[in-house]
Amino acid sequence: MEVIKITPRGYCYGVVDAMVIARNAALDPTLPRPIYILGMIVHNKHVTDAFAEEGIITLDGENRLEILEKIDKGTVIFTAHGVSPEVKKRAREKGLVTIDATCPDVTKTHNLIQEKLADGYEIIYIGKKGHPEPEGAVGIDPTRIHLVETVEDVECLAIQSDRVMVTNQTTMSQWDVADIMEKVKEKYPHVEMHKEICLATQLRQEAVAEQAKEADVTIVVGDPRSNNSNRLAQVSEEIAGTKAYRVADVTEIDINWIKDAKKVAVTAGASTPTPITKEVIDFLEQFDPNDPTTWKRERNVPLQKILPKVKAKKETKK
Ligand code: SF4
Repeated sequence: MEVIKITPRGYCYGVVDAMVIARNAALDPTLPRPIYILGMIVHNKHVTDAFAEEGIITLDGENRLEILEKIDKGTVIFTAHGVSPEVKKRAREKGLVTIDATCPDVTKTHNLIQEKLADGYEIIYIGKKGHPEPEGAVGIDPTRIHLVETVEDVECLAIQSDRVMVTNQTTMSQWDVADIMEKVKEKYPHVEMHKEICLATQLRQEAVAEQAKEADVTIVVGDPRSNNSNRLAQVSEEIAGTKAYRVADVTEIDINWIKDAKKVAVTAGASTPTPITKEVIDFLEQFDPNDPTTWKRERNVPLQKILPKVKAKKETKK
């Protein structure tokens, strides 16, 4: 079957950096044990499973503060999505060693928000409710940062201020953000707009918008909780006009989606391990709708292949 390998796709710099930071922590004998990750380091189960093999415990829950309450000692790693100042403070109070793997693009948005709050602004933040990135950003000042997900949410806002700024979560669909910002502008004509979609997300979405047009169907490889992966499927359907399915790995591909297709486009979210995507591409390339022996979908990628390689840190002699 013909496969359009959409480029760029897959791992972004923020995700790779976060995994390298966590892996270095696992190899550092000077760090107090246990080592925990506060939430999923990146939204991909294959990655959290691989870290579990390294002895790093991923704790998940409703929100970062709640998860933190489950930890009494050791080291805690903050994920690429960032955390609120309250979470950092609570970790200090608990005497935990902290390692911050927040993506620099998320930190940039936090800094912008803090700067504008100091100047007396009310902030409208476009993001996905329940996702850790908005939780961290809104947590900077929940009374003056207003989370919206849709244009309907904008209609419900009742901000009374001559200083209003609108910004967004880094992994939203850029077309959705443009529409919501337009609505905000209509309601608050004096609003200051700061689009903060990260470059990695932007390039991956634009690639899908352009390259998926030629395909009969798009397969997006990504975890169900990965916002940027879900947005890639949305972009394929809404912008490129190509039906899309998101799969965590090759085993989730349904033959009915592809049996009548001539061309299949493949992309992957920023948190999807490259070998997992490669397995999907290899399967599709050998797939023949008329030959059931080519329909076998098996995940064989070993966990050791999921994480980026780092050198072990030597213990220093005292
Ligand atoms: S998707 Fe963007 S914001 Fe998120 S980790 Fe990657 S580069 Fe950073």
